Order: sequence, then structure tokens, then C-alpha cells
Amino acid sequence: MSRAEAPAERIARLVRPAVQAMEAYHVPPAAGMVKLDAMENPYPWPGELRDAWLQALSGVSVNRYPDPTAAAVKERLRREAAVPDEAGLLLGNGSDELIQLLGLALGGEARTVLTPAPGFAMYRLIAGFTGMGYAEVLLGENDFALDTEAMLAAIDRYRPAIVYLAYPNNPTGNTFDDAGMEAVIRAVPGIVVVDEAYEPFCGRTWMSALAQHPHLLVMRTVSKMGLAGLRLGYLAGHPDWLAQLEKCRLPYNINALTQASAAFALDHAGHLRQQTEAVRRERERLHQALDQRPELAVWPSEANFILFRTPPGGAGAIHGRLRDDGVLVKCLDGAHRLLADCLRVTVGTPEENDRFLRALDAALRA
Ligand SMILES: *Cc1c(COP(=O)(O)O)cnc(C)c1O
Repeated sequence: MSRAEAPAERIARLVRPAVQAMEAYHVPPAAGMVKLDAMENPYPWPGELRDAWLQALSGVSVNRYPDPTAAAVKERLRREAAVPDEAGLLLGNGSDELIQLLGLALGGEARTVLTPAPGFAMYRLIAGFTGMGYAEVLLGENDFALDTEAMLAAIDRYRPAIVYLAYPNNPTGNTFDDAGMEAVIRAVPGIVVVDEAYEPFCGRTWMSALAQHPHLLVMRTVSKMGLAGLRLGYLAGHPDWLAQLEKCRLPYNINALTQASAAFALDHAGHLRQQTEAVRRERERLHQALDQRPELAVWPSEANFILFRTPPGGAGAIHGRLRDDGVLVKCLDGAHRLLADCLRVTVGTPEENDRFLRALDAALRA
């Protein structure tokens, strides 16, 4: 009798090499922590709103499949984001799923994703498992500005199928200059996705440029504006492009509770806007506070997080001391050459930010 094949052997034989080479996306445990690592809105809803929301949810028929077109949510998103009438809209289970749909529809060995770096990790991860090549162009060493010449040269070299431009960029927090963006958008032979996950904290958008560029797609999410738990992202762009992507979308990807909750929340969008306003005010205060610590270098941010650099070799230890003190931030040291000694903190409530600053001072002194 032949020996049973060990899981490792069968895996090595069957799992696609690109997948075998990947690491799964790791989310650190955060129970009981001051959670400032994932760009969540720190504010819960007031009681009356919560009660009205639960009332709305009680009308959902969970025995039925959700509306496959999510028409009620789409209508509200169009209004909220001022999506041009000519543009189509495609919904994803978070914008992460939209990035995956783009990879599924355009992927293949000879296809390349190009993006400035350091940037959002999911572009590379999803390029990996959808079988796409992946290339980066360095941002400016000290200001993380878009290097337009280097982008244009890379576009010439790789002829990318997809270019991602996060505006504002994660984890650097800045936007890129308009002329550079325009030049890159015009030069791309594939599609350009402007990822506006942080638009609620920035206010500037490429939505109105959709009319001029049929190969431009604008991606948004409700996650950072305060609805991360719902998992809802959206992509606006030329209806012909979205019709192709639509074929790779699973029929009921936006569940009934998310559809009802998002529709309800968008009917009360003024409330979410007050919260994002409060976060923007706190961002300025937190930036000033960090800037006053002479050991740190701090970058300006148009998002709901702040990137800062610790003294050489200090980021890992400071991150660990903050965690032991109950404050979770993101350590980016080792994630990219330009992020050596860098930590990223999400803007929380005034109390959370004060707690973070106290813990940071203790960690810097230790
Ligand atoms: C957080 C983030 C997203 C992911 O958003 P989801 O809708 O929660 O999947 C997309 N792009 C960037 C740049 C982000 O930082």
C-alpha cells in the first residue's frame, strides 16, 4: 500500500505558486485596546439613531436573498458622492473586493499593476493572487510626492493594465499634485483607479474628471467615514468598463443587512459628516502635539491618520511599549524602505488621542 500523501506535499503540488509564496493578511488582536491602527471612525452612534437603525433592520427579510442590484443603496451613494449621471456604479464587499474584481477581470501573467510606493498593501497582495505582475514607482524620499517623470517612464516600460493612485495615499497621508495626476492618467494605456478611501477627510476628488477620461475609475468606501463594519465599497466610471467587471461580481455580494444599514446611514449622512469634522479637528491637534516632540518627524495628513518617524531603530520597541500599555498603532518599519522607523496612528476621540500621547511619551522615555 502506498504511503498517504502528506498535506505539505499535496499543497506544494496543487496550490498556485504565487499563492504559496504569499503571506495571509494579518490583523493583530485588539480586544480591550485603544484601537488606533486601522483608520476606523472612533465615534459610536447616539442612542436615538441606533434605535431607529434597529427599527429599520427589523424590516429586512433575511430569509430572502438581498436585492442583487442594491438599488436603494446605489441611489443614495450617487447623491452622497455626486457621481456624474453618465457614470455607472459598481458595489463591492469593501473596496478590497473591487480591487479583487479588477484583478479577476484584467489579470494574467502579461498584465501589470503599477502604483506609487509606499502605498496600500492590498494592491500588491491582490495582484499576487489574481496572477498579475506588480511594479512600484518610488514616491519622493522626504515629501512622498508623486514622481511624475518616473511614473511616466514606468508606464512606458510596463504598459500597465491597471494603475492605482490612492488620493490621499495610505500610509503617507498626502495627495498628489493635479498636474502630475493628469499626466499619469493621460499616459496610461490601461485603466486608472483613483482610490479615494479618505475623501471624507480631504474633500478633493477626481469624480468630476470621469467625463474627460473614459479609462478612469474612482473608488470610494464607506469604511473610513464610519461604517467599516458594513463592508461596502463603490466604483464609479464608464458603464462599459463596469459592465465587464460586473461579470466577475458574485450575484449577492452586498448582503441585506449591509444594504439596509447603509441606506439608513446615508439618510443620516449629516451625522457622519459631523463625526468626520471632529476627526479632522483632532487630526490638527494631534499633528501639532506630535510635531512638538523633538524626537519625532511628522508628516502632514489629509486623511484620518498621521505618519511619524521615531528615532533610528526605535519604531519596533515604541510600538511594543504602546501595545503593552493598551494602545494599538501600526508599525510600518520594515514594510518599505522609505518607511524605516515609521509608525502610523489613526486619529481617535480626544480622550483616545490624549491617552496615546501619554503612552507615547512614556515609551519615548523608556
Ligand atoms: C482602507 C483602505 C481601503 C479599503 O477599504 P475597504 O472598503 O474597507 O475595503 C482602500 N484603499 C485604501 C487606500 C485604504 O486605505
